Amino acid sequence: MKAVSPMEVFERLESNVRGYCRAFPAVFDRALGARLYDEHGRSYIDFFAGAGALNYGHNHPALKRALLAYLQRDGVVHSLDMGTVAKRALLETFDQVILSPRGLRYRIQFPGPTGTNAVEAALKLARKVTGRNNVVSFTNGFHGMTLGSLALTGNGGKRAGAGVPLNNATVMPFDGYLGEDTDSLSYLAALLADRGSGMDLPAAVIVETIQAEGGVNVASNRWLQRLRTLTQEHGILLIVDDIQVGCGRTGPFFSFERAGIAPDIVCLSKSLSGYGLPLAVVLIAPEYDQWDPGEHNGTFRGHNPAFITATAALELWRDGGLSERVVNAGLEVERAFDRLITMHPEALSQRGLGLIRGLMCPPHIATRAAQLAFERGLIIETAGPSDEILKVLPPLLIPNEDLAAGLDILGSCVTRALRGSDMRTATTSAPPHA
Ligand code: PLP
Repeated sequence: MKAVSPMEVFERLESNVRGYCRAFPAVFDRALGARLYDEHGRSYIDFFAGAGALNYGHNHPALKRALLAYLQRDGVVHSLDMGTVAKRALLETFDQVILSPRGLRYRIQFPGPTGTNAVEAALKLARKVTGRNNVVSFTNGFHGMTLGSLALTGNGGKRAGAGVPLNNATVMPFDGYLGEDTDSLSYLAALLADRGSGMDLPAAVIVETIQAEGGVNVASNRWLQRLRTLTQEHGILLIVDDIQVGCGRTGPFFSFERAGIAPDIVCLSKSLSGYGLPLAVVLIAPEYDQWDPGEHNGTFRGHNPAFITATAALELWRDGGLSERVVNAGLEVERAFDRLITMHPEALSQRGLGLIRGLMCPPHIATRAAQLAFERGLIIETAGPSDEILKVLPPLLIPNEDLAAGLDILGSCVTRALRGSDMRTATTSAPPHA
């Protein structure tokens, strides 16, 4: 009798739209820290971290304790935007631990709980405040799948799914898009300065300081500073989409801190709850908080279990040690990549910051290496317009041994993929499976 595939039920009943279960064909059951376990107890090192939603790892004990205690005492779970003890604690902690120490005075909006909800709210507000329609985004940007966010997203395949024209958006070259020697902002600066350029003055510019889905493209501090100056000069709101690279991914809590800039609006989601529970916020400079009461709403804005875990996660930022840990772990990845690049200098290069690192590979190699890595118990995703980048995105708190073991597997799989041979015939390091 033919063995039934563990994925059979998903293939039979779930929509064709499913994606990650094709790349990682296992049925996962438990997860702790930087490890996922399938239903047979096989262990996988997680270099994916829920696409950036699990910066503190799976089921962090302090967050779990807070969540279980809250549920146990019948704490309010759903509350729209009513006042709750859980929301008050989150607002106060966010102010004390994150905003005040950085001299930031944002008002905090709770939109619907996903990243794209935060982006849509930010766009709507910027258009309301300025009375303008157009929003500038950047090549290879990624901001979400709803129509407003999709209009600002570069990926052609995702855009094609819209089914309607994607408009009120203008795309500009991201830092480095026109080559290392060209300051790509000169183009935007020229268009804004010229009343004959044909570009309507935008309401906002939206930017990721590091484009995560777009291929781990890092904007330089100088480029970000110039963008801040340019937007200020023309009365354009600057929105930083920190949904994937915020919450400590690059080292500091916000990814834009390294450039010393303060955006007008910041979108956060993914790792904000710290536990994989949906939660998003829009941080708004007070002068732009021009919403009328109830003007932008949504049923799931009051997801109190996420408020509880988010508050517990923010406690991890009180002493400042986490940033340093991220920077050091990131340097480990950089060194491992350097060693690999020395072995294959013609084929590989790297980029990234903190614990978002990209290994740029020749066509098809990243996808093949990711498949081989999965077979050896490492979960890693590809990024970039042609999936040419292996994106290392582990939990920030990944134990050193797991980081080293994962990098070891990755290195041998990249080498195998480059040689075009199969991992099954030779292994260079012990698999991590329990
Ligand atoms: N913005 C950025 C930078 C993202 O990386 C993502 C998701 O990957 C989004 C927005 C959309 O978030 P969500 O998938 O929660 O809607």
